[in-house]
Amino acid sequence: MPDSTGPTPSSERSVTEVLKDIFSKLDPIAKDHAERAQVSCKKGCNHCCKLLTTIMVSEGLLIAEALLKDGTWRSFLPELKESALAHCFEGICNATYFDKRRPCVFLSKKGQGVCDIYSIRPSCCRYHYVTSEPEKCSPEAPRDTQTAALDLMPLDKEVWMFDNHVSRELFNTPLMSAPIPVMVLFCMDYMTQDDITCNREIKKWMEGVPTPIEWMKKYGIPSLVLNKEISAEEAEVMIGLTK
Ligand code: SF4
Ligand code: SF4
Repeated sequence: MPDSTGPTPSSERSVTEVLKDIFSKLDPIAKDHAERAQVSCKKGCNHCCKLLTTIMVSEGLLIAEALLKDGTWRSFLPELKESALAHCFEGICNATYFDKRRPCVFLSKKGQGVCDIYSIRPSCCRYHYVTSEPEKCSPEAPRDTQTAALDLMPLDKEVWMFDNHVSRELFNTPLMSAPIPVMVLFCMDYMTQDDITCNREIKKWMEGVPTPIEWMKKYGIPSLVLNKEISAEEAEVMIGLTK
């Protein structure tokens, strides 16, 4: 996968290394819970990859770093942009996005229903397990269908706390959370600031795509509240919004 033509992120390297360490520490805990609960989640099952998935900036940097090292990142930009724009509509929330039945941009197109970025997938994917039948996760299931998810919130929160530190250090804000393609494009732009050629190309595909902060201000409060289990008031305070 690594390719010598890609830019080499440097200053963010420690962020991505630390995040990988955190995942390495938390993953066995999640696996242990999953095994004991006998969860239904299996390789290739992917209804949940059509949910609205918002990620944090450190997670976006980790994915962006891997993409930039991959020789195919240029050809992936149009797809990333299209997916980002599909996350920009009034009233976006889990229910309205799920209705679109639109797979995550990183769900493999090779037909096996697997995640193309499995080893670096974000915490909301990593620590999401259910004990209910997989059919209940499907967008075709009746609207009032309930799934039984494992409560692994303490693991998510550990990642979230780390990200809070990163967001403050790098972007002077306590929280940046946005849909996967919106965040990844932003992070690719951020990581190529010193590489004019690459950065120009990425910027071209970012035209019309909001930054994570813009996305949060315009669309994000309901999503933040749904995905991070915080109140609307907390979310507004965290991203500095005024009513
Ligand atoms: S959460 Fe549901 S759709 Fe996702 S892997 Fe588990 S059972 Fe399958
Ligand atoms: S990042 Fe991977 S696991 Fe997460 S929604 Fe996308 S395809 Fe699914």
